[in-house]
Amino acid sequence: MHNDTDNIQKFPVQKELLRIPPEARAVHNGIVRALESMENGNAQSCLADDFKLSYFRVFELFEQYQQMVIQHNNYKVSCKRGCAYCCNHWVEDVNSFEAAIIAEYLRKYFPDSIEKIVAQCIEDEAILNNIEKLTIDRMSDIDDTGTIDYIDLVLSVFYQMNRTCPLLSENGACSIYKVRPLTCRIYMSFSENALCAPEYQETDDIPTYLLNLDENASEILDRLHFRYQRFPEETGLRSMLVKYLTEDT
Ligand code: SF4
Repeated sequence: MHNDTDNIQKFPVQKELLRIPPEARAVHNGIVRALESMENGNAQSCLADDFKLSYFRVFELFEQYQQMVIQHNNYKVSCKRGCAYCCNHWVEDVNSFEAAIIAEYLRKYFPDSIEKIVAQCIEDEAILNNIEKLTIDRMSDIDDTGTIDYIDLVLSVFYQMNRTCPLLSENGACSIYKVRPLTCRIYMSFSENALCAPEYQETDDIPTYLLNLDENASEILDRLHFRYQRFPEETGLRSMLVKYLTEDT
């Protein structure tokens, strides 16, 4: 994950690791090869066709990898179209090139919605900043042991506010499903959909998982993120979209 947001995590941290079978490892190797080709291709722009095609291949392989891991562990994913509790999280850890690709997709397919999306992103960002300010101000009152991670707390409060992702359509589906970022794809729930609601967020036994890529893949993603980044320090989906959607193209 990116160095500048090392301790920011979009979703609750998983408590138990999933077992990865050898056939899934082979698919993961394919992901690494696709990422290497993106890195070695040295595309001038992350919007170049070759670069995007390789990244879509990564998505395709990641889906296969995820399916194999789920089957091997005998789980059943409960996530389905229309259930969008997780889309109330502040989406963090988005790669710069992913934000650029999403912005391009929105310009192409939803040009009339851009103004509304940007307005909601700005509003949500202001709310997150307020929560952050209040949390920092009161941190010493609520945690004299120094054991509470304030970023977790800020993200958790934001989640409780039911601020749905600006990219979620009215029928509860992701409007950019084909190009949604990896950080949205790695999350899986194996429990009843209703248990993903914010009020159960702190419950210990909800089986939700983040199926991250291995370190070598994450390192390549980081290098690509920094190679194509135009707005340093930004890794939140909403804050990046404001910049990518309002810049002159
Ligand atoms: S980008 Fe799509 S999947 Fe991700 S939080 Fe937004 S609506 Fe949900």
